[in-house]
Amino acid sequence: MEPNNKIQNTNPIPILYERKEDCCGCTACYAICPRQAISMEDDLEGFAYPHIDAEKCIRCQMCMKVCPIKEAKRSVTARQR
Ligand code: SF4
Ligand code: SF4
Repeated sequence: MEPNNKIQNTNPIPILYERKEDCCGCTACYAICPRQAISMEDDLEGFAYPHIDAEKCIRCQMCMKVCPIKEAKRSVTARQR
């Protein structure tokens, strides 16, 4: 069998935000990404939002775990159960 050094990961590429309200531009995802796959890009009003380079992303989901807005939503959902 040939050696396979590629990381096997079937996770999807994360969607960091769908609406601008879901991202405060804190850069935590950008800072934690182990592959420098995230860049912060300014919108037309000068607010920076993260963009993932799919070629660099290894789908580790660390950016999703560190996001304070996603964490806040998880907490609210957990409290509602
Ligand atoms: S899933 Fe991992 S590699 Fe991909 S953008 Fe997020 S932190 Fe970076
Ligand atoms: S960690 Fe979350 S809120 Fe912060 S920039 Fe990334 S997606 Fe936006």
